[in-house]
Amino acid sequence: MAKILLKFSESLVGKPIISQIIMKYNVPINIITANITSKGGEFLAEIPDEILVKLVKAFRKKGLIVTLPKLIDIDEKECFSCGACITICPVEALVFDKDFSLVFDKEKCLGSTCNACVDACPAKAITSG
Ligand code: SF4
Ligand code: SF4
Repeated sequence: MAKILLKFSESLVGKPIISQIIMKYNVPINIITANITSKGGEFLAEIPDEILVKLVKAFRKKGLIVTLPKLIDIDEKECFSCGACITICPVEALVFDKDFSLVFDKEKCLGSTCNACVDACPAKAITSG
């Protein structure tokens, strides 16, 4: 599954664009996070890899801004295994290995829509990608 960030302008926010795309392409779209008001907003969604290009084009044709969320980078040399990032991560994308080395699961990470671990790291070992 691929993650995409869908940004709605104020003029599009009331339109059922996601439902229309789901019905047209008969594809499951998993909404992971939503931050939306009457003024616009954004959805982080998960879609099957094989239809990624087609759906990105379809959403853009409807007027949405579509981007792929950037993932974090971890500087292993700076990490001192404090665990702050693990505690704050909302999706358990960061865990310790048996030897307390940090393991990052890219598939789970919410990327630039989250970045909570970037601010939480006291060693500045994590940067947004
Ligand atoms: S960016 Fe968010 S989801 Fe990704 S590893 Fe950091 S805290 Fe977890
Ligand atoms: S918060 Fe920073 S120093 Fe602590 S475990 Fe995570 S990456 Fe390592």
